[in-house]
Amino acid sequence: MSAVETESSVECVPILSGGDWVQGKTQRTGNVYNPSNGQLIAQVPLCSVEETNSVVQSAANALAEWSETPVVERARVMFKMRQLMEDRFNDIAALVTREHGKTLAESRAEVQRALEMVEFSCGIPSMIVGDTMPNIARDVDAETNRHPVGVCVGITPYNFPSMVPMWMIPVALVCGNTFVLKPSEKTPLSANLIGELLIEAGLPAGVFNIVHGDKECVDTLLAHPDVAAISFVGSTPIAKYIYEVGTKNGKRVQAAGGAKNHLIIMPDADLDLSVKALAASAFGCGGQRCMAGSIAVAVGSIGDPLVSELSDLAGNMRVGPTDGNEDVDMGPLIRQEHVDRVAGFMDVAAGEGATVALDGRRDFAGDGFLIGPSVIDQVKTPMKVATEEIFGPVLSVVRANDLESALAIGRECPYGNGASIFTRDGYAARQFKRHFNAGMIGINVGVPAPMPWFPFTGWNESFFGDLHIQGVESMQFYTRQKMTLTRWFGSTGESHADPVWKTEKKA
Ligand code: NAD
Repeated sequence: MSAVETESSVECVPILSGGDWVQGKTQRTGNVYNPSNGQLIAQVPLCSVEETNSVVQSAANALAEWSETPVVERARVMFKMRQLMEDRFNDIAALVTREHGKTLAESRAEVQRALEMVEFSCGIPSMIVGDTMPNIARDVDAETNRHPVGVCVGITPYNFPSMVPMWMIPVALVCGNTFVLKPSEKTPLSANLIGELLIEAGLPAGVFNIVHGDKECVDTLLAHPDVAAISFVGSTPIAKYIYEVGTKNGKRVQAAGGAKNHLIIMPDADLDLSVKALAASAFGCGGQRCMAGSIAVAVGSIGDPLVSELSDLAGNMRVGPTDGNEDVDMGPLIRQEHVDRVAGFMDVAAGEGATVALDGRRDFAGDGFLIGPSVIDQVKTPMKVATEEIFGPVLSVVRANDLESALAIGRECPYGNGASIFTRDGYAARQFKRHFNAGMIGINVGVPAPMPWFPFTGWNESFFGDLHIQGVESMQFYTRQKMTLTRWFGSTGESHADPVWKTEKKA
């Protein structure tokens, strides 16, 4: 991958178009930081309309040949990709940590999920086969088969720079589409490494492309007549926008948005296990996960011991720089502005009458974008900490009298990504599973994020569209069906209903 040194002596990341790594021509650039130390590590071009159009053109040019390549050959590229990712596992994880700030252990877990998406895509030939019904009417056979949809676009967020692009790319490619990735301008480096590996795996030029940019670039992709389908993952306001504009322009769209996930702790729950699971859910990746627990609903008598033990555990977490450093439990956030925004919620919560049981605001050595975990108790549902997506290491605790009140809290929430219950009572678990207003449910599981074989089924304002990312639905999203009816007659005009072999006498 070629890169040029900019005036500030940092790499300006290239775009990938038609198999070539090229420098953006635009004068507009964005900064990429190492959140562990606040240093500028790269610049990213914010591509213009013309540059974006040209990348889409590369994907369109490669479509005819790639879509005619047999599906088993397309899958074989992913078998190779799987091996390359295995070989470069630690490099990818280190790069995720460098540009995102999550701990190396968290980055390794992310890369493992990305790798599993590649494994899932290797099985698509078994999934993509069509249906047939011979003799659906007299002399008539019916069949369906699946075709690629065309040029697909992926627009991804900063928080899983290697995993979220891989939710889309391998499935779309094995289904016979070509692809343009527009990664987050905050974390473009992992995306470019994925591009390098895909080329090394043997993808023909133009089948996979990367364009960097912001709104101008995204709006160009949304309007481009050659773009057939758009997969988006990011915040709810942008997800809604992408869905509305994309579908208005006649594109197939799946758009996953933000979240406010509930963790219900019943009075009979194992307190120790629940506290550990809650802390991992709320503070893992610095709370920058769409499946992070954000509101703990403590039912009945468990509230006081829960807040006390959770605050103790979280207060003892080691928070610090993660780049090259494994001795930390929680790393920095993506930007200093984001740290300031998250810190602001503590005063707002106190002003609205909540109690800050653990305040993560403290002085840290160095210039990293650091803040510790916070626990806010006695939160009521209309408060700002209970309604806005904070996307940082803050867990709000709401007290409830019973499970029905906890279910009611879920019904009021406009989001609907994930929710978990901690209990030893099967009936409570069953009620929760059936009636909580969210698409992904955990029972004694802190982060109920599905593995690649199951769809990522966000509900309400957490997802716009029909077919979800991952699982069989993702194959369905990236293909369109064709149904064929066939009628053949024998050479003498006889039909299958009255065939020669039926009337011939045996000798
Ligand atoms: P974001 O919405 O700011 O950005 C996502 C993408 O949209 C980026 O590529 C960005 O360049 C682009 N974008 C941003 N503003 C735009 C605009 N005005 N017009 C067009 N494009 C625009 O999200 P983020 O801050 O990068 O990521 C965090 C968000 O993503 C959180 O809300 C989180 O919950 C969500 N998320 C959701 C899921 C899920 O599966 N539901 C998974 C991961 C992250």
